[in-house]
Amino acid sequence: MGTEVSVTLWHDDALLARRAIDAVMAQMQGIDERWNPAAPGSELYRVNRQAALGPVAISPELAGVIDKALYYSRLTEGAFDISFASVGQFYDYRTGVAPGEEQRQDALPAIDYRLLQLDRDALRLGFGHPAMRIDLGGIAKGYAVDRAIDLLWQRGIRHASVSAGGDTRLLGDRRGRPWMVGIRNPRQDDDVALVLPLEDVAFSTSGDYERFFIDPDTGARIHHIINPRTGLSAGGVVSVSVIGPRGFDTDPLSTTVFVLGVDQGLALIDSLPDFDAVLIDAQGLVHYSSGLVE
Ligand code: ADP
Ligand code: MG
Repeated sequence: MGTEVSVTLWHDDALLARRAIDAVMAQMQGIDERWNPAAPGSELYRVNRQAALGPVAISPELAGVIDKALYYSRLTEGAFDISFASVGQFYDYRTGVAPGEEQRQDALPAIDYRLLQLDRDALRLGFGHPAMRIDLGGIAKGYAVDRAIDLLWQRGIRHASVSAGGDTRLLGDRRGRPWMVGIRNPRQDDDVALVLPLEDVAFSTSGDYERFFIDPDTGARIHHIINPRTGLSAGGVVSVSVIGPRGFDTDPLSTTVFVLGVDQGLALIDSLPDFDAVLIDAQGLVHYSSGLVE
């Protein structure tokens, strides 16, 4: 997943605690290996190479994640769309590469969740466009932190925090006190814009400062959250944090709200009873969903 994983937990037995952390790390590594689209041999690599030729067999686990992704695509008319990768694959943020104009226009019709043919019973997935590619970067880390917390719970742990990049899931509190979760100042490294006391929730942040480069010609910030309608980096906000019960939802929602922007994004969150959000816009103004203001 190209990201840092951290685990904090309490257990009376130090050896058990150590083993639990190792198990979480192994599980994360497994998810990363299965769904890294760049790794030949991964499930996602195979799907991306073959699904345009006809439906391919997929694991129940992948079917579940794609099903969830499609739920958020339908809810937002495609603001969240794992087939963003049809264009997204042509960006390389580390080396400062963006798709050319023609390349982007050619691949744009392949960004369309309605062309993803998922058969959850037969466990098959087909692509309805030859240039279609999928990437789970907007949902897999939230899924992974949920799985980690499930594993820790099964081992008797009741106080833990697991983070994978911008996605965190908290189990219980920090032994009598809430966990203090920070939202970074998006334009200043090491500066925290806001700290929230939280327990027993998931918390996902999407920011335009995670993976980006500055276009030398225009000065524009080219970053990793893609507006599926254009195949370009989404503008308007610079940071979105979503709070809710599970990372499997807060992760795709943070990406989605980022794409939708302040007004539509807050309207979406306010329509979902279990979720709240904090947005920082391009002017540095902070916006809260109604559940946090009341
Ligand atoms: P991170 O925790 O990596 O910062 P985010 O939750 O902000 O992740 O999601 C960004 C990732 O989501 C991108 O790196 C990309 O893999 C994927 N992504 C980008 N745009 C979209 C989109 N419109 N719909 C679904 N996934 C997206
Ligand atoms: Mg996300």
